[in-house]
Amino acid sequence: RFYVDAIRATASLNAYLEVYEEEALERAAALDAQRTAGGTFGALHGVVVGLKDVLCYKGHVVSAASRILDGFHAIYHATAVEKLLDAGAIIIGRHNCDEFAMGSSNENSAFGVVKNALDTTRVPGGSSGGSAVAVQAGLCMVSLGSDTGGSVRQPADFCGIIGLKPTYGRISRYGLIAYASSFDQIGIFAGSIEDAALTLEVIAGADAFDSTVSEQPVPAYTQALETVSDKPQYKLAYFREALEHPGLDPEIKAATEAYIKKLSDAGHTVEAVDFELLEYVVPAYYVLTTAEASSNLSRYDGVKYGYRAPCQDMDLTALYKATRSQGFGKEVQRRIMLGSFVLSAGYFDAYFTKAQQVRRILSDRTKAIFSQYDALISPTVPSPAFKFGEMSHDPVEMFLADIYTVFANLVGIPGISIPLFKHSNGMPFGLQVMASHFDEVSLLRISKDMM
Ligand code: GLN
Repeated sequence: RFYVDAIRATASLNAYLEVYEEEALERAAALDAQRTAGGTFGALHGVVVGLKDVLCYKGHVVSAASRILDGFHAIYHATAVEKLLDAGAIIIGRHNCDEFAMGSSNENSAFGVVKNALDTTRVPGGSSGGSAVAVQAGLCMVSLGSDTGGSVRQPADFCGIIGLKPTYGRISRYGLIAYASSFDQIGIFAGSIEDAALTLEVIAGADAFDSTVSEQPVPAYTQALETVSDKPQYKLAYFREALEHPGLDPEIKAATEAYIKKLSDAGHTVEAVDFELLEYVVPAYYVLTTAEASSNLSRYDGVKYGYRAPCQDMDLTALYKATRSQGFGKEVQRRIMLGSFVLSAGYFDAYFTKAQQVRRILSDRTKAIFSQYDALISPTVPSPAFKFGEMSHDPVEMFLADIYTVFANLVGIPGISIPLFKHSNGMPFGLQVMASHFDEVSLLRISKDMM
């Protein structure tokens, strides 16, 4: 009831596309009855969770914040959702986001922008903007988003909360609407490292419905946090070029540098490593993700799902064109065209193959780094939350701001944004920590020590 009321009172933030009020209250009552009867509790008994509107929750609308899925209802649970329910969570509603998770500001939703609760003239980040604001404003306890190139870490940074993107393959993607399948990973927004760890423990793990998910056993993350040694000494690296980048806000640079000094003073090893590949990460990301998106989104044709354009006297091609022109927003259309272009016969080698080669080189480099260091640190985003309209006129500028987050998705490693700093404009910003594949234990421990 508390959360239902809070969501109502903050409706102007537009974080929720739908609240499952009656259903959530009924479930809460049932869970409470179970508690008083002395029944067994799941790990998330009574925990109020919200879902980015790209996760399937059986029997409920799922729209990817797009008109093209108009009227579509999920016919099965995403594996992560099923695991939440099995652990006793209460799903309270679905969150607004950028259409098909494409964007960095939540200005690409077909259902209006989401406002940053700390300053409603500013964006919450994206694409999981609604899920970030829901945790920021206390409209649920934890939420699930998706992170293809930063969509959990970047809004967490803009909203002053924790945003965790696990290793690619740590959590099943079954029932997550695809943007770029080799990059997509479900992520977690939380107010504390412990909450993120517990949620991850519940939703991670093998799944017969996703052939890319890992069969590695899920460590007891919460327990691992309790056994942190008193004075741990970490070996940390940062990319020299990342802090020298001309687009980096001077205050974020200064705060990050001061923090690095503080870490070394505390006895940790923090070293700059050369990373001359930094300028290639954003181009490689946008070539590969748009290619995958153009293929993934071809299923929305006006026949199989959701919206269909009025189609009297149309042949099939005209129906496809009309449906897709009307159903998809501008940014999604831009990316489908870009992706079709880089996959086209004449340009495949020049763009797609080249970007795959970059991805391979980045992976090799990543292995080398983590053979020497426990974690890699960087700013999460080069600027704090910006004002509505400030960036949306220039898509390339918006793409370039993903410079620090896309690396983790290109190489599949886990990353987290932890809220450590405050800008003179009053907005929070975070530090990003990345660890080696499937080493969420170190990632969470180091993050806990830093907070
Ligand atoms: N901002 C990035 C993009 O627009 C990240 C999106 C995401 O992680 N879903 O592609």
